[in-house]
Amino acid sequence: MLNIGCHLSASKGFLNMGKTAIELGGNTFQFFTRNPRGGSAKDIDPEDAKALISLMQENSFAKILAHAPYTLNACAKVPSIREFAYNTMLDDLKRMEYVPGNMYNFHPGSHVGQGVETGIELISDLLNSILSESQTTTVLLETMAGKGSEVGSRFEELREIIDRVELKDKMGVCLDTCHVNDAGYDIVNDLDGVLTEFDNVIGLDRLKALHLNDSKNPLGAHKDRHEKIGEGYIGTDAFERIVNHPVLKDLPMFLETPNELPGYAEEIKLLKSLCK
Ligand code: FE
Ligand code: FE
Ligand code: ZN
Repeated sequence: MLNIGCHLSASKGFLNMGKTAIELGGNTFQFFTRNPRGGSAKDIDPEDAKALISLMQENSFAKILAHAPYTLNACAKVPSIREFAYNTMLDDLKRMEYVPGNMYNFHPGSHVGQGVETGIELISDLLNSILSESQTTTVLLETMAGKGSEVGSRFEELREIIDRVELKDKMGVCLDTCHVNDAGYDIVNDLDGVLTEFDNVIGLDRLKALHLNDSKNPLGAHKDRHEKIGEGYIGTDAFERIVNHPVLKDLPMFLETPNELPGYAEEIKLLKSLCK
């Protein structure tokens, strides 16, 4: 069975997102921990979190995925921006313990001219100052498209970040299909080759989730513009191979395509129909 969901608005709380995920035909979902542009987060209602946990158990949910705000840049040049990243991630991970045992995804960051190596150091330093032995959340580095000075568009960069993190068992990777396409990994014509490379560089045991997005741009464009499933350069046939691939098929998959809820329901139906 496909573990599938989409990005949902967190404005009506945890239980509401769980119910919406089921209505859309899914068994998981992704949400922003706070406004994607940053700012302070709403207080969590512990009863709402408990209600979601029950709903997830009753409906065989896969792990859910929280997404950090886009403005979080762990390797910014300006110290106050790095401080915002620190405070936000620390607070987000504290809040994630209301729904223990799930996952938290973030964009590694943009080195803004400081160079990839400095970027990698700053990102791993931040993780080392935040991660704790007692946390139950797995923190995922997202594979990036490589626009601007983004760190994490090469598997080697993600590997280097993880190498420098002390609590490695708290770390994983979320592979975004649009981003890897735009970064130059040919998942359309050589999915096996890309996964072998991932395994050789990072290790497939670190792959914890997928973002399923088609791309408005061709292989290697370094753009990051998501398209509806089947309407971009990746195409339905490639998604059929992805949802059926033995190393991917059991991972939780999250749609971040340009859709309203009915469009997401259609895509979930489509992806399920592709499963053999
Ligand atoms: Fe993302
Ligand atoms: Fe993504
Ligand atoms: Zn993206």
